[in-house]
Amino acid sequence: MSKQRDLILNIIRNSQDHLTAEQLFLLAKQKLPSIAMATVYNNLKALDESGYIRRLHISGSADRFDKSIVPHEHLICSNCGKITDVKIEGLQEALEKKLNILIESYELNLQYTCKECMEQKLEDAAI
Ligand SMILES: [Zn+2]
Ligand SMILES: [Zn+2]
Repeated sequence: MSKQRDLILNIIRNSQDHLTAEQLFLLAKQKLPSIAMATVYNNLKALDESGYIRRLHISGSADRFDKSIVPHEHLICSNCGKITDVKIEGLQEALEKKLNILIESYELNLQYTCKECMEQKLEDAAI
């Protein structure tokens, strides 16, 4: 694995967030000032295709990159954009049984308003 690819993979694996390519580029630049945005894009594509990371497609937002490649679902706050991993036990099995197919991969993004934003809304309404 090239030095750049290794660096990008490490940043993703050490992050608690689901970062965008832009955020990854800025973090990579701190370690490797000469790195170019196109290099970051190319490496993200290669890492996704070889199964090291997972690319998330989120409508109305930039793609995010997930270190966790085990099947899981995402809660996305429609107000602040925060992404939280969730695992709905038995979901894949239930879908497979219902549809009589074997699912190879899927992406489930549930839009909601997170606790912090909900509290903020209540506070704003109280004024
Ligand atoms: Zn929120
Ligand atoms: Zn995730």
